[in-house]
Amino acid sequence: MCVFCKIVNNEVPAYTIYEDDDFIAFLDISQATIGHTLIVPKKHYPNIYSLDDVIAGKLGKLSVLLANHLKEKLKTDHMNIITNAGELAGQTVNHFHLHLIPRYINDGMIFKFNRNELSEKEFKKLHNLLKK
Ligand code: AMP
Ligand code: ZN
Repeated sequence: MCVFCKIVNNEVPAYTIYEDDDFIAFLDISQATIGHTLIVPKKHYPNIYSLDDVIAGKLGKLSVLLANHLKEKLKTDHMNIITNAGELAGQTVNHFHLHLIPRYINDGMIFKFNRNELSEKEFKKLHNLLKK
């Protein structure tokens, strides 16, 4: 059984800040910044690709609720919300979770996008591939 399933089953302790029938939210054991929280479905989904529509809908609503909760309690309205899917993206626990990472001035957190420049031809090709 994975570590988050064990937390859901109360076999591993956690600093739980929210719980309902479908989700649990607790403080990440390794606080990227103060207040770093994980939202975890109680059912074991390996990653974002496997979430069903119902849980995905509830997750959206809960992430807004808890983002606002952290914002108010921690007195910052800056935050990164991220999920890592797969090893290359940095996923280490294969039970879906959403990271809520409050941000503060000089918090030392490094979160940087590459700035790749594509030609118009490359953009058009990519656009054709991805549009639904
Ligand atoms: P990821 O690398 O996106 O899979 O994130 C996994 C996160 O789970 C990491 O930030 C870990 O610090 C966190 N983590 C692992 N074990 C525990 C635990 N027992 N309680 C709380 N957080 C944990
Ligand atoms: Zn699990």
